[in-house]
Amino acid sequence: MAPVRIYPSLRFLLLHLLAAARAVRNYPENEVTLLDSMSALGDLGWEAYPAEGWEEISVMDERNTPMRTYQVCNVMEANQNNWLRTRHIARDGAQRVYIEIKFTLRDCNSLPGVPGTCKETFNMFYYESNNPNLWFIKESQYVKIDTIAADESFTQVDVGDRVMKLNTEVRDISNLSKKGFYLAFQDVGACIALVSVRVFYKKCPLTVLNLAQFPDTVTGGDSALVEVRGACVNDSEEFEAPRMYCSADGGWLVPIGRCICKPGFEEHKDICQPCRPGSYKASSMDTYCTKCPPHSYSPQEKASECACDKDFYRTHTDPRSMACTRSPSAPENPISTINETSVTLEWSPPRENGGRGDVTYSIHCKKCSGDGRKCGPCGSGLHFVPRQFGLSDTKVLVTDLQPHTNYTFSIEAVNGVSDLSPSPKQLVSVNITTSQTVSVILKERKSKDSVTLAWQGPDRASGAIVEYEVIYYEKNQRDQNYTVLKTKSNMMTVEGLKPGTTYVFRVRARTDGGYGNYGGEIELETSHEDMLAIGDPNQSTILAVSIAGGIVLLIFLVACFVVSGRHCGYIKAKQDPDEEKMQFQHGRVKLPGSRTYIHPHTYEDPNQAVRDFAKEIDASCIRIERVIGAGEFGEVCSGRLKLPSKREIYVAIKSLKAGYSEKQRRDFLSEASIMGQFDHPNIIRLEGVVTRCKPVMIITEYMENGSLDTFLKKHDGQFTIIQLVGMLRGIASGMKYLSDMNYVHRDLAARNILVNSNLVCKVSDFGLSRVLEDDPEAAYTTRGGKIPIRWTAPEAIAYRKFTSASDVWSYGIVMWEVISYGERPYWEMSNQDVIKAIDEGYRLPAPMDCPLVLHQLMLDCWEKGRSERPKFGQIVNTLDKLIRNPSILKELANCSMWEDPTTPEFSVGTVEEWLDAIKMGQYKENFASAGYVTLDSILYISVSELVKMGVTLVGHQKKILSSVQGLQARGTHVHV
Ligand code: AMP
Repeated sequence: MAPVRIYPSLRFLLLHLLAAARAVRNYPENEVTLLDSMSALGDLGWEAYPAEGWEEISVMDERNTPMRTYQVCNVMEANQNNWLRTRHIARDGAQRVYIEIKFTLRDCNSLPGVPGTCKETFNMFYYESNNPNLWFIKESQYVKIDTIAADESFTQVDVGDRVMKLNTEVRDISNLSKKGFYLAFQDVGACIALVSVRVFYKKCPLTVLNLAQFPDTVTGGDSALVEVRGACVNDSEEFEAPRMYCSADGGWLVPIGRCICKPGFEEHKDICQPCRPGSYKASSMDTYCTKCPPHSYSPQEKASECACDKDFYRTHTDPRSMACTRSPSAPENPISTINETSVTLEWSPPRENGGRGDVTYSIHCKKCSGDGRKCGPCGSGLHFVPRQFGLSDTKVLVTDLQPHTNYTFSIEAVNGVSDLSPSPKQLVSVNITTSQTVSVILKERKSKDSVTLAWQGPDRASGAIVEYEVIYYEKNQRDQNYTVLKTKSNMMTVEGLKPGTTYVFRVRARTDGGYGNYGGEIELETSHEDMLAIGDPNQSTILAVSIAGGIVLLIFLVACFVVSGRHCGYIKAKQDPDEEKMQFQHGRVKLPGSRTYIHPHTYEDPNQAVRDFAKEIDASCIRIERVIGAGEFGEVCSGRLKLPSKREIYVAIKSLKAGYSEKQRRDFLSEASIMGQFDHPNIIRLEGVVTRCKPVMIITEYMENGSLDTFLKKHDGQFTIIQLVGMLRGIASGMKYLSDMNYVHRDLAARNILVNSNLVCKVSDFGLSRVLEDDPEAAYTTRGGKIPIRWTAPEAIAYRKFTSASDVWSYGIVMWEVISYGERPYWEMSNQDVIKAIDEGYRLPAPMDCPLVLHQLMLDCWEKGRSERPKFGQIVNTLDKLIRNPSILKELANCSMWEDPTTPEFSVGTVEEWLDAIKMGQYKENFASAGYVTLDSILYISVSELVKMGVTLVGHQKKILSSVQGLQARGTHVHV
């Protein structure tokens, strides 16, 4: 029986089917084809048996390429068993192969008159073999892959008025182990056209991941993963062995490890590309090439480090990312303080630190004999405390100097690259001449016309003491008359003195080497003739005061007083402001310990208060020179005061402007009647008043450096912490005196402290109306009073409870002002916000570079409970301890969070935000116009660059540079 023709025009049909099959022939890149019937050029060599079964039908396509298909359609006869077998297919190492077949199957119903034996499936088999030339394989040797039926996955082909469905089926065989295999298709009575057979296996294609290259990899059998080791791409190295797994379906899985670009190269897509000139990469661990740091360059590609510009250096421990640096300039402003045979040298850091933070100081010493003829090295006899070389502080104590010798100390600033620089050392020199000073005087007053003095010689007299010389004169009469007495003993009674007169005594020692320096002045007043003795006049008082070459070293002994009815004798201990003193008060004698300030309002006649407490000065003694400020009642001028038989002194003159009311006059002069009651080195001293002619004036001592707040702002960052503590100590001492007098200041603030040329701070501003009218900081409270909110304790704001304890609160604020060089407390917060914040427990954070102890002391002053705040006496003691042991000041309080760029909270993104955060916002324009627009760009900024752009204040430079260091520590990648 003739086979049924499946389709009316076979060629026409085939062309359509093949076109459809080819249309989907874009195979994925991870498939490797072992056999493709459609692209086979020659004879496929497939075998069909029996002969009347599968039939090969070849057609030429439009490009004359032969296309082979097989069909069988013996549906009219039962018991069909037609085999079509491929050639041997080499498996190419694959353990699993896929067979994709495209075919059409006519359904039996569409064929007219076919019997029930008509099938709609066929079977697919394989046989594994190493032999590529088997000519016969038994049916039983085949392994069945599957029975194939037409299913839903088909492509529609329109052939004339018919719609043909091209089915695609894929099956796989795995765990192949022989060289290859044969495929076979068994037809058992269906009508099939086998259009294409493609055999392929899958691989994981070559890929580069994490800079490691993974080769083409054939997938494993079943679903096993194949582990593959990657190889680092050019110019990279293994960071962690790169590995990946090739999955059975040809995908890469689970990448582990990676390669990284070698120094001088950076990752770009899947390769390592060289750093461009001007940039470098020091370590393979860095991801990107970075711009050469300041003062360095890299002229060629692939630089792993940038070379330093001429005259700039890098130590072997400096990170390659650090700017190249140079040696520092010379230290500045050297000051020497000689004390007998020791000297304290202090200096300011160099203006230019060379761009480094590791500046230390070395001291070089040369000595010359007294006549200056013989000079040479100082030898090993001197002792330097803490050491001679590698000093980190700007201070050193040199002891064991020889007396009467000229020394030259050269202070050298050294940093990490000083040794690398061939340029000469930058030194600053101090010349000193040693001497010996009598350091301690004990004195004893005996009677109205004699005084007995006793003293201690120098602690470390070099050479035997030959004798002592005592010089004395009537106070303020030195120019006219003085007497010199000599003694071998360290005690002397000076006789023939005038009663009720103040004398000044000084003592010096003479050794083999010559005279030492005079010790400090001691003032003693002889008793008045009509003295009313209290206690035994013979039981003398011994007071010890240590005055060593002008350095304050205070020793108290016992004090005992002889007091008269109208006059008070007192021993003035210039160096100790806290010493007990007799006070002369309102015509009555007050005993020590009970001195009290008298409020001018307690006088019925306020003019009497002025007369009692202030000396009337003749206007002709005053020479006004220039205006230095504006007070509430009129101008403040500086000028000179020359009282008869006294030295001319500089004074400040406050005058009451014309047209004043009687009340204004009273208020103006009230300041004098208050000030006139005080006598303390840290309280502004009243010289007197002019009330008998106009204008009415108040004359006080002149304070060359004006008010403390302005002074600190002007000298931002220029003082050592010891100097600042010294100022604070003075203020505390003045306040202790005031609180002992039961005087409450109410407006203690840096603006109301005056500073003289020796940096001595004195409390001022005592007028009665001052808090109400005068202080621009004072604001009206809800209760109607006017109060400087930021400086005032909460209980004083809330219910006007002003006490010495509220002054202590204000003192804490002054401490903060001093350490922050005149920063405004609570910055720009509103008064209301300040009150609220304080009530909620907020306290000012430590200013920059503030020693921890000082901030703790501030916090103590700001205790909510006023009885828990320290007393001024305790504050003075604490500060004295710090001055004696400056090492305690080394531990700095943590920087406030908004200033410390290493804290995670500090999240600035732009130069402007950063400057605002460190409160240097005033320099935004300077930075912008100097081209510093990104945070990366400021990382290596130097002092000289800051100066160039107009940041000239040393304190501001320090603040900016220390914050930059913080930013460096935080770490920033600069992308080229
Ligand atoms: P006062 O009216 O006391 O606040 O003084 C006004 C300004 O004059 C102060 O801020 C100081 O700058 C200056 N001044 C007042 N007293 C003195 C003084 N004794 N020495 C120098 N300057 C002073």
